[in-house]
Amino acid sequence: MRANSVVMSLLVLVSLFVAAAHAEKQSWVSRFDGWKAKMGSAELQRTGFLLIDSHIHLKGDLTLKKALDYSRKTGVFYGIVANCGLNFPITDDQGINEYLKKMEGQPCFVGMQAEGREWPTLFSKEAIAKFDYVFTDAMTIVDHRGRRARLWMPEEVDIPDKQAFMVLLVRTIEQILDNEPIDIYVNPTYLPDVLIKEYDTLWTPERLKRVIDATARNGVAIEISNRLKLPKADFIRQAKKAGIKFTVGTNNIDSKLGREEYALQIIRECELKPSDMFLPKPDGKKPIQVRGFKTK
Ligand SMILES: [Zn+2]
Repeated sequence: MRANSVVMSLLVLVSLFVAAAHAEKQSWVSRFDGWKAKMGSAELQRTGFLLIDSHIHLKGDLTLKKALDYSRKTGVFYGIVANCGLNFPITDDQGINEYLKKMEGQPCFVGMQAEGREWPTLFSKEAIAKFDYVFTDAMTIVDHRGRRARLWMPEEVDIPDKQAFMVLLVRTIEQILDNEPIDIYVNPTYLPDVLIKEYDTLWTPERLKRVIDATARNGVAIEISNRLKLPKADFIRQAKKAGIKFTVGTNNIDSKLGREEYALQIIRECELKPSDMFLPKPDGKKPIQVRGFKTK
């Protein structure tokens, strides 16, 4: 009798424990599934779509460990990118080699963000080719005064004539795409803060087409930027028709990496397929190896 009640109590305890564990597991699973469904990445992965965010910086409070933990949690593969160029953390081959040594064997891509228009003169082809990919943007230009201007720094921006600025910007983007051996054009169609409200009128269809033509003829991919929410769907559709590949990039400034919201919206809206997405080129086929530099 006594033994029976002990067994009964044990059974009750065990079943309570199992039920609790099950409830805990269920709530964890549903929380995680709900979160992933919200992201849409689970849905994408079921269709064989590997989501890669190729524009993650170890900036602010974001350490490599934190980035990789988040990558595992979200199922989004990351490309960790180093800023290389004049007045940036990496300015020569030695800097590249030291950086790559630190990143060796990590479960992520390692990319180079080439900064400023003089970057091809700072590094050797061999050092650059060690990265999985190279990208740049048109956010540092030589302006109408002949000055190096970083367009995200309001004190360096001088735009007395908006139309003339757009002419110069489009020409700069064409020159970058035609002359700099990059894999991806990032922060595409970015405009400085003072012009952002006029984005739709300043970026005329003709100007956008020139950017698409230059990107296509040089086999360069275009980033879908989560942070800038650019480019817009129409541009992506036209670029897709021109055979251009796409990447997804967050360009974070700290550990707030977001959930790829804008990219997922564009992927759905423009019906992008895995075959529309960029993958790093194998050794020997990288733009830096195939195109080299067209130096002045
Ligand atoms: Zn960046």
